[in-house]
Amino acid sequence: MKKDQLTELFKAIKFLKIGGHRIKIKYPFDFKEERKIGDSNCQEGLIRIAGKDCEGSVLSFTKLVAALLHEVFHFLDWDIRRDLFESENDDETAAKEDGLDALMEALLQLFVDNPRLGNLIQGLSKRK
Ligand SMILES: [Zn+2]
Repeated sequence: MKKDQLTELFKAIKFLKIGGHRIKIKYPFDFKEERKIGDSNCQEGLIRIAGKDCEGSVLSFTKLVAALLHEVFHFLDWDIRRDLFESENDDETAAKEDGLDALMEALLQLFVDNPRLGNLIQGLSKRK
């Protein structure tokens, strides 16, 4: 698929159903001076994903998908009340955030290397 088509594919996701909650996806969101490419607000049911990184470069499709999944995992963590990726301690939270990024990268590579796994997931959503 071409880059523009991939961006449109991403833009088409306006909401996600996560753990029974309807979560609004705001993309592209301008974080201004904040140095981040995504965040989530579980109370408000909102995920925001930047169109550009801190240096002003347009985010690649891979980075967009990774950023979205990263935030989705925060919601899942919140929904199952496990605090897998957050902590009262800032250093511990930073380490958990790094762990989440590593997990996302590995997970995306798994699906890239094994497209049939993605087909299995699609099969679940098409089940009647
Ligand atoms: Zn995070």
